[in-house]
Amino acid sequence: MVVKKSPDEIDMMAEAGRVLARCHQLIHDAVEPGATTGHLDAVAEEFIRSQGGEPAFKGYRGFPGSICASPNSMVVHGIPGSYKLKRGDILSVDIGVVLDGWVADAAVTLPVGNVSPIARKLLATTRASLFDAVEQCRPGNRLGDVSSAVQQRVEADGFSIIRSLVGHGIGRDMHEDPQIPNYGSAGTGIPLEPGMVLAVEPMVNAGEHPIRVAADNWSVYSQDGSLAAHFEHTVAVTEEGPRILTPWHLQEALRAA
Ligand code: MG
Repeated sequence: MVVKKSPDEIDMMAEAGRVLARCHQLIHDAVEPGATTGHLDAVAEEFIRSQGGEPAFKGYRGFPGSICASPNSMVVHGIPGSYKLKRGDILSVDIGVVLDGWVADAAVTLPVGNVSPIARKLLATTRASLFDAVEQCRPGNRLGDVSSAVQQRVEADGFSIIRSLVGHGIGRDMHEDPQIPNYGSAGTGIPLEPGMVLAVEPMVNAGEHPIRVAADNWSVYSQDGSLAAHFEHTVAVTEEGPRILTPWHLQEALRAA
């Protein structure tokens, strides 16, 4: 069942999203060669708590970190720790914030220094597919329009949509209905209505789409070892159109490249 939010509730989610957006900016600024993912995690947790929020991922089904930090061929759910960033890496950073009982969720893949042309293209495509999808988050459209927008952009650029990981509704719970696949047919699926809040999150492999889960039972990698990228916004469907509640534009990812 999709739980719709009132305009006041969407405003409260936007407060969580503002904290989250600032946190992403801080992490962006802290990503550099030599920094460990554990350090980034500490920076994020300290900031989120300083704002009166809680890191949504910490303790979620036992996840030990405040952020997910997933380098290179790791797609999502990387546990922050001793991994030291090096020039040429890409790093997917996913962060969730709970503020006054409302959750916001957003992710970005950042380049560390200069990265390869294929990495740069992967980041640009995945980011563009997110904004194509956000554009579809309006009343009168259907969920399949969102999914299809991601798939069309990604496949036109020669990359692969991961099938087995999906976006989700979000609100008081981090994962609510509906599930949002990143592939599908336009004009199908549930109608989008004002008050729906969606975490739209394309996850893309440079190679083939299959993934594998590592022995830590968290880290998800592309099965073929190809680079992977992940961009995500929390978006409200409103009468006026899509409203991004995690208003960090994520273009810093490309500027740094
Ligand atoms: Mg999410």
